[in-house]
Amino acid sequence: MHAVRARRAELRLTHFGAAGWSITDGAATLLLDPYFSRVRFKNRPYGAPDAATVPRDPRPVVDYTEVPTHDTGTVDRHVARADFVLLSHSHFNHAMDMPHIARKTSATVIGTESTANIARASGVPDAQIITARGGEDFEFDRVSIKVIPSLHSALSNKHYWSSAAIPRDVKMPLRLKDYVEGGTLAYMVRIGGRQLLLFGGMNYIEREVAGLRPDVALIAAAKPRREIHDYTGRLLRALGRPRIVVATHWDNQGLPFGAPQDEARAEADTFVAEVKAVSPRTRVVVPAHFQTIVLDGRGALKKS
Ligand SMILES: [Zn+2]
Repeated sequence: MHAVRARRAELRLTHFGAAGWSITDGAATLLLDPYFSRVRFKNRPYGAPDAATVPRDPRPVVDYTEVPTHDTGTVDRHVARADFVLLSHSHFNHAMDMPHIARKTSATVIGTESTANIARASGVPDAQIITARGGEDFEFDRVSIKVIPSLHSALSNKHYWSSAAIPRDVKMPLRLKDYVEGGTLAYMVRIGGRQLLLFGGMNYIEREVAGLRPDVALIAAAKPRREIHDYTGRLLRALGRPRIVVATHWDNQGLPFGAPQDEARAEADTFVAEVKAVSPRTRVVVPAHFQTIVLDGRGALKKS
């Protein structure tokens, strides 16, 4: 039976901060952009140049030309298993913790050529790496995954641009500057009788998502979305006004876990208002770090 028509299972969506998620129906587990290292970066040439900080921040400052430290302890506290790791793109705050997770869980990694090259150079076996361009619609045992061509957030007042790719012969470890975008993908995942549309950045290609009818849309909600014309309205209309919208990539990912996110949260609240303006019946959730959203078999939504 096709996954979409299967009995609806309970789905659990756990937010890891930044664009990071775990999604499971109890049988299969998918991760999206799992990033736990929360690097205190400095001199980044796009977006905020320096990571935000808090008093007595214990993290080392890592210049954009330096190799970051991987917080594998935090990864291991939150990731026990995964069948798939989906990557929207290869910037460090999406991709740098993926190799450790893929090696530890034996998950299949799906991403761009740049993402695949990071995985391969990090010792992830070829059998676990699927390289995608966007446009593929892959069938697996318990899930199917449609890969959607997408666009990176229009950072730096729309001046962010990179056509660089991570080469096949890249050597680890990578410096922050080596984690180039490598193109951006979105995903439509069919799992447990539902369709979830997943974004890892504040942009999309309208014609690539028009007509999709996700039950749940994870939509990136931080301030760079304001660079895009009618970002929320155009997207929600293209998707037929989904019943449930979950804000993602809304936090200030330059801050450590546990730091106040008041400013980012206030911005996310303006995203909620945008959703309500175009689709008053849509339920919108802005998840806290490590919060789990539970969708039961009837479609009711709980937070834990
Ligand atoms: Zn990025």
